[in-house]
Amino acid sequence: MIDDDDAHRPLPVVLKPVADELLSSWLARHAAYYGVSGPFFAKWLMLGTRNLSLLDHRLGLAQVARLSEKLRCDPIALIAMTLIDTPAGSAELICRDRAPQICRSCADRHAREGASGAVPKHWQKAWRVTCPACGAPLSDTNERPDTGETLRDTSPFSHVWKEAVTGEAVIERFLRGDGSFDYSPIALMRALLVHTWRPCGANGREPAAGWALGTIFPEFDNLARPIKRRINHAVVAALPIAFRPALLAGVSRVIANPEILNTVQDDTILRGRRAFERLCETARLEAEVARESH
Ligand SMILES: [Zn+2]
Repeated sequence: MIDDDDAHRPLPVVLKPVADELLSSWLARHAAYYGVSGPFFAKWLMLGTRNLSLLDHRLGLAQVARLSEKLRCDPIALIAMTLIDTPAGSAELICRDRAPQICRSCADRHAREGASGAVPKHWQKAWRVTCPACGAPLSDTNERPDTGETLRDTSPFSHVWKEAVTGEAVIERFLRGDGSFDYSPIALMRALLVHTWRPCGANGREPAAGWALGTIFPEFDNLARPIKRRINHAVVAALPIAFRPALLAGVSRVIANPEILNTVQDDTILRGRRAFERLCETARLEAEVARESH
């Protein structure tokens, strides 16, 4: 337990962070270690907020100073635990709040190493389907852990898994400054999630909702329709992760063969057409900027 007498001293025990651990995760593990709630711990640390997750996205100098003193750690290392240095353009691909994905093998290892519940940064990244630490496919946090199933088993797009992994690598390369692409893969993620309409079928029904990506993977439209509100090009990070392999595989195909964009464009109509064209142009310009700056 910690009390007010400790407020001016560093914590007696400082836990070792796991590789790539999020600041909020590390702090939450300290709170658990000292038997207090996260908000209580934040208040005790006098951070000016009770929400530890906020610190992953915004960390002021006073908070850095306070944390580095209390946790006896290097300020630079502290900042590296946040998502603040996320490259421009990818901030919107960071999932807020609870991590949607988990690497079960790393989670087991963390537990064995006394760091149960630790959350690495990549569990929040909306372009990851494999774990950069151990290479295993990630799992949906909502799946029961005892089944041992990963996204590669549970996603309806597991048949394009290999291409999804290629798409993931493309995005990582782009974020690390690889300027060899004709289109920004990040802007392409948005473009492929643009909403459109499919003409009504022979049975005379109303036009059905579709997405640009449905031109590449026709099953996407049918699977996405029941949850259409969650599939929005403006919020890529909100895409349910079962659909993520399809999006990454689509990006990988377009990067390998940009001609596909013409076919997708032909199938994307009405307002979707304009949004799609605008986002393709953005993707082209962003790739140009990346090329010139390296
Ligand atoms: Zn792992």
